[in-house]
Amino acid sequence: MTNAFAVLFVVALAALLSTRLWLAGRQIAHVQRHRERVPDAFADRVPLAAHQKAADYTTAKQRLGRLETAADALLLLVLTLGGGLALLVRWTGGLDLDPLWQDIAMFTALALASAAVSLPFSWYATFVIEERFGFNRMTLGLWLADLAKGVAVAVALGLPLLLLALWLMRTAGDRWWLWTWAAWMVFQLMVLVLYPTVIAPLFNKFEPLPAGAARERIEALLARCGFSSAGLFVMDGSRRSGHGNAYFTGLGRAKRVVFFDTLLARLEGDELEAVLAHELGHFKLKHIAKRIAWSAAASLSLLGLLAWLAGKAWFYAGLGIPAELLPAAVARPGVALALFSLALPVFTFVLAPLAAHYSRRHEFEADAFAARLSGGPALVRALVKLYEDNAATLTPDPLHSAFYDSHPPAAQRVARLAMPAPAAAADAA
Ligand SMILES: [Zn+2]
Repeated sequence: MTNAFAVLFVVALAALLSTRLWLAGRQIAHVQRHRERVPDAFADRVPLAAHQKAADYTTAKQRLGRLETAADALLLLVLTLGGGLALLVRWTGGLDLDPLWQDIAMFTALALASAAVSLPFSWYATFVIEERFGFNRMTLGLWLADLAKGVAVAVALGLPLLLLALWLMRTAGDRWWLWTWAAWMVFQLMVLVLYPTVIAPLFNKFEPLPAGAARERIEALLARCGFSSAGLFVMDGSRRSGHGNAYFTGLGRAKRVVFFDTLLARLEGDELEAVLAHELGHFKLKHIAKRIAWSAAASLSLLGLLAWLAGKAWFYAGLGIPAELLPAAVARPGVALALFSLALPVFTFVLAPLAAHYSRRHEFEADAFAARLSGGPALVRALVKLYEDNAATLTPDPLHSAFYDSHPPAAQRVARLAMPAPAAAADAA
């Protein structure tokens, strides 16, 4: 094989695989090395047993993650250079269907292959690892029901989008990628509205935050931020796991802050207020809008790249489409789209640390916002509970964390919150 792109693809995949395995190895070694001692900053708040549980939980998840990384890479090789996709192109090309639906059949087969690899890992993560560490509350029935609903949502939302994209690729001429990009942006905004109001309620119950001792303070906080208390919800996260969390989601009138009931049960009034202030910080600092802007720019350039690649024979040949199949493959836009979605993560992997850094910067900003609004110490107490309930390690490997973590390590967040805020100092002066 002399295709330079095939060589580049294999080299990039090997680099991705070895980097991921190496980082996982570092993470395991690092948490195990610090397993015997709670870091000083947390010594009076986190018991040694909880710290050790976090180390072992982190290790178990990393070990499974390494296997999954290897399985994913193997599947990718089988589908591309191994001739898997070529086989699917031939097979679906022989189906007595409109070419558009031949492509849909191909994407369905790809989704099934990917599910065959990922589902055993997902099952093991829930029923072996989460179970062993006392977090799992799912039954097999609920797991299967979730799976069925997930497939239904993916079909209901994904199929029309895919059909539209494939149709535009066929009929909209050279500028198809601009139209597809516009459709993709509309779709993303639609999902942002539909997720909190329609999709998430398929999986969980959402109830208004109950009135309690903290209610008045919370109302005052919401009023200060211009956020309606109608957007405040408690979710029955305890149906599935003992993990606690809070998140923000949605757009416009669909925007929400959601607390897991598991977290709510653990927080005191001022801690609840601090977590809420953090989530409101994400809204107030326009983090959702900024992410949408980034994703708009990224998807526009990627679709432009796809439009360019779809006309290059070496792109198909380099990813395992044999010469005799090339005319058929180029005539079916789904093939270029499938190859592109398969190969893209291999090349964008180097950007993961940048995305993680960007996300961590937003977390620091939201923390600072919360500290100004409702005080740092309460947020620190809430964070310590959150890390403990999730058995999140307090001693991650710095490189692993820099590469992957969407949230800064606990020690960094707590250290920053302990620093006097510049705004507070100015107020005092
Ligand atoms: Zn956050």
